[in-house]
Amino acid sequence: MSSSHLSKERRSEVSPNVLLAFIAGNSVEYIEAVNDAELGILLTNRLREYTGDQTLPKPDRILKSTWLTDKFFRGAYSSLGLLSRFDDFTVLSEPLPSTSIHRLLFAGEATTPAGYGTMHGARESGIREENRLIWQMYNEVSSN
Ligand SMILES: Cc1cc2nc3c(=O)[nH]c(=O)nc-3n(C[C@H](O)[C@H](O)[C@H](O)COP(=O)(O)OP(=O)(O)OC[C@H]3O[C@@H](n4cnc5c(N)ncnc54)[C@H](O)[C@@H]3O)c2cc1C
Repeated sequence: MSSSHLSKERRSEVSPNVLLAFIAGNSVEYIEAVNDAELGILLTNRLREYTGDQTLPKPDRILKSTWLTDKFFRGAYSSLGLLSRFDDFTVLSEPLPSTSIHRLLFAGEATTPAGYGTMHGARESGIREENRLIWQMYNEVSSN
């Protein structure tokens, strides 16, 4: 496992014998594909490398999310890749069709440049689209 595979490790405050690891980027594909036994060995080797303690035991159990391969998620939340532009979040928020009456509106954390990847961004985007809809209905009614 390269260093990029394990982005963050945390000792759980509730259960001191639980270690929590966040995996991000392309490494997720790899982590989701390996079986628990193999992952246990990879993580243990990594921890032994960090600490220099070769006696650290392997985990008894591994609980792993598989959001990338879950067809309703295809990942966890958006983040800016090296080839992304900040403007991409705004582009994703644009309704369709863009010039006439909008029929398809887009909400969700990935449509908010100021709150992408967060709950408040998701909430804010819902309010934004609700307001867009209200304005559109108001304009339609006033023009008739
Ligand atoms: C591990 C983790 C930790 C997080 N921690 C935090 C945190 O501490 N603070 C914070 O602010 N945010 C956190 N987030 C991010 C936050 O959870 C998300 O930004 C937020 O839930 C996004 O909301 P959303 O409505 O945009 O999308 P989602 O909550 O992903 O909702 C999309 C919904 O669409 C459904 N769906 C997908 N495809 C289809 C389809 N074809 N047909 C029908 N339904 C479909 C999905 O099942 C899902 O229910 C965390 C996320 C993760 C994964």
